[in-house]
Amino acid sequence: MEKRQYQLSPNIRIVTGSEPGSAMAYHALYGNPRIINDEGLRFLNLFRRPISKEEIAQICDGDPRETIRAFAEVFFLVEPGFDEKEFLRHQMASHLVEVSSGRTVDRMGLAISDSCNFACTHCIHFQSSIDSNVGILPDRKQLNMSWETAKKCIDQYAGLMKKYGNRHGKMHFGNAEPLINWPVIEKVLRYCEGMSDLTFEFAINTNLTLMTREIAEVLKKYHVRIATSLDGTAQANDAIRISKGGAGTFNRIVEKFDLLADIGYPLDGFSITVTGGNFELIDTDVIDLAAQRGMTSIAFDYDLVGLVDIPVTKRVAKLMHLKKYANNKGIDFFGTWDSAFRNLTSRSLLTENHAFCAAVEGKTLEFNVDGSIKVCGHTTTQIGHIDTFERTFEVVGGLLGLVKSRFPGTDDYCSGCAIEGSCGGQCHVTREIVARSDGERRQRLFADLCDFYRAVTEALAVEYIHSSGR
Ligand code: SF4
Ligand code: SF4
Repeated sequence: MEKRQYQLSPNIRIVTGSEPGSAMAYHALYGNPRIINDEGLRFLNLFRRPISKEEIAQICDGDPRETIRAFAEVFFLVEPGFDEKEFLRHQMASHLVEVSSGRTVDRMGLAISDSCNFACTHCIHFQSSIDSNVGILPDRKQLNMSWETAKKCIDQYAGLMKKYGNRHGKMHFGNAEPLINWPVIEKVLRYCEGMSDLTFEFAINTNLTLMTREIAEVLKKYHVRIATSLDGTAQANDAIRISKGGAGTFNRIVEKFDLLADIGYPLDGFSITVTGGNFELIDTDVIDLAAQRGMTSIAFDYDLVGLVDIPVTKRVAKLMHLKKYANNKGIDFFGTWDSAFRNLTSRSLLTENHAFCAAVEGKTLEFNVDGSIKVCGHTTTQIGHIDTFERTFEVVGGLLGLVKSRFPGTDDYCSGCAIEGSCGGQCHVTREIVARSDGERRQRLFADLCDFYRAVTEALAVEYIHSSGR
């Protein structure tokens, strides 16, 4: 009888640590990272050609069966002819069945207002909504969500949750500056409080400046998690985060940090966006500011497409430096940039984290001011409408098509990439923004972003190897 053979998967990737003797091996499509020593690497190298257990036993000390089994279990070793992409497509088919039933949805967003009292040009919402032909926001008739629309959206989402036995929902208020439409938020909070069979976890993204003490007290009462932005200390923030009149906003924002602390509802962190306008001004002083206020998390992100002229190595070095500094102060430091690494290290990509983010995995329903449905507050891709809610999940609806097109392993451009499974084609909004650029610039932007994601994922893997050895 022919003996079963194994060979090294063509998708195995090795990241070596900063010190000799340890590395991280993972599968580019399926994840499964493992810290591995020199002996393990030598063992794997024996499988550069198809070889049987019996042949391996002849050249190795001891019984290799257990080691082969362990490596085969995480697909570092596969049988010759095993089609790794086909196996992924099989996983996708079962995930799509779940998507089409609506079972994957676990959170909703309400685009409470599409207008904003700030004028930050780096704003992801502004960039994703901009009309590339005329260079300005398209003229929209409706900027605020009505209570009637909000109620309809909540009822549909609540129905979906109950259908699958979920007693706990997650609701996010966005989209540009939601506090502009505060009366609707307040009504929503009260309405949800009155639901006997469903509890909610609320979150809001706001620039804070419209928040009065009364509003702050209501947010506290309903435990609404507040996400806000401060793009550095005064000089760095005021270089890019500006009012409609062009004035800096640092003092106005920090004043509201104080207000929240004053009512006993302090922020646990904020997010920082870095563009070409404040890149050189951002330093550890903003982390000190967070630490002094007892904060524990900072979300940090580079402008999606505006840093192409700053070398990737410089961008990654800055990130890693700030991350280390923040972590040493007990502050969690994260952002879209670590999504691929987080996906890679959160168990197997075959069984969960099937995409870059929850939105393109089919977990989110974002209801726009006019009742149209998207997967994230910033994308321009519509997947349905509240008036024909059920259709969102049908083959003709948009959710299935979007999730399918974004499932890792489906995009030819990404084929063979070192983080193909964990990146899965990046943030959907970035893709939309890049796609609207001219031919040559489009290619440059996308290549730059890919280089960035690969480099930062590798830097995080090196850090991971180092911390695993401690
Ligand atoms: S988008 Fe770029 S970095 Fe991400 S998987 Fe595709 S090729 Fe790789
Ligand atoms: S597509 Fe995902 S990563 Fe991109 S902005 Fe939306 S939620 Fe964030």
